[in-house]
Amino acid sequence: MSRAFKHLYGPVPSRRLGRSLGVDAIPFKTCSYDCVYCQLGRTTNHGMERAPWVSCDEVLDEAREILALDRPDVVSFAGSGEPTLNSELGCMIAGIKELTDVPVAVFTNASLLWMPDVREDLSLADIVSPSLDAATPAAAQRVNRLCEGLSYEMVYEGLKTFCRTFRGRIWLEILLAQGVNDSEADLQALREACQGLARVERIQFNTVSRPPADKGVLPVARERLEKIASTFPGRTEIIASYPRTAKAGDGRRQPEARDAADLIGRHPATLEGVAAGLGISAQEARALLAPLEADGTVVAEARADGSYYRLASQVPKP
Ligand code: SF4
Repeated sequence: MSRAFKHLYGPVPSRRLGRSLGVDAIPFKTCSYDCVYCQLGRTTNHGMERAPWVSCDEVLDEAREILALDRPDVVSFAGSGEPTLNSELGCMIAGIKELTDVPVAVFTNASLLWMPDVREDLSLADIVSPSLDAATPAAAQRVNRLCEGLSYEMVYEGLKTFCRTFRGRIWLEILLAQGVNDSEADLQALREACQGLARVERIQFNTVSRPPADKGVLPVARERLEKIASTFPGRTEIIASYPRTAKAGDGRRQPEARDAADLIGRHPATLEGVAAGLGISAQEARALLAPLEADGTVVAEARADGSYYRLASQVPKP
């Protein structure tokens, strides 16, 4: 007997983390940012109010069920919006740590780290990956489009405090988009900002992949990203996954959400299955599936050998 999961997905293979059981505890596109490069499209609920968008109990019920069947390498909070906007994040991390001894990671845009309760919630995690895509107010607004009431200064001060006080591992992510936040002035400001952050274990460079929220926002080429990374302090690495480049006239196109729905409609598939079927990475498959899950087109079901996506219209009624 299997049942649909609403908030957990995977485990999915992650280059950075191994087999990662994902927790998505935020409604689709609820975020304090509206990044030009977001793979999930434009932010529809743009704000910084923390709320129990998804209850801790709901997440822990699903985690209990999946972790009884499987042992991922990590449990990671990411997904369809900014995870620290869930005011029950601390309860969720603490509850998961009671269920398993695998590390818990949180991927955050870092916008709320100036809030003491957010830092307290995150203090329970083993790995936190905060983002810092820009280091001037103008560049931050250009790339991240901060919500009303939030400023670059608040974000950077919060990040600095967090880095000083958090006891776990900090992996700072910088995503560069061509012509948006990659000028020499932008990069120099970012270098200086990184120097002001304590205890960052590594800086991970990323760039645009999949169709971004704003059409026309382009990736930085791998060679250039590598060169840029080499000018930053400390340990740096490239985590960008570069999209396949279709040669003119070869007829190939990037898969879209309807391709994922078609594939699942033919037979239920794991996230890895969807990725393999469409010839894309697991991260890209997740970006296609997230809106389909959010609008109820697909559901995830736990089976003994993993979590499978099905079309909701094909799930037998109880
Ligand atoms: S990329 Fe992340 S931080 Fe930026 S808008 Fe999308 S969900 Fe929010």
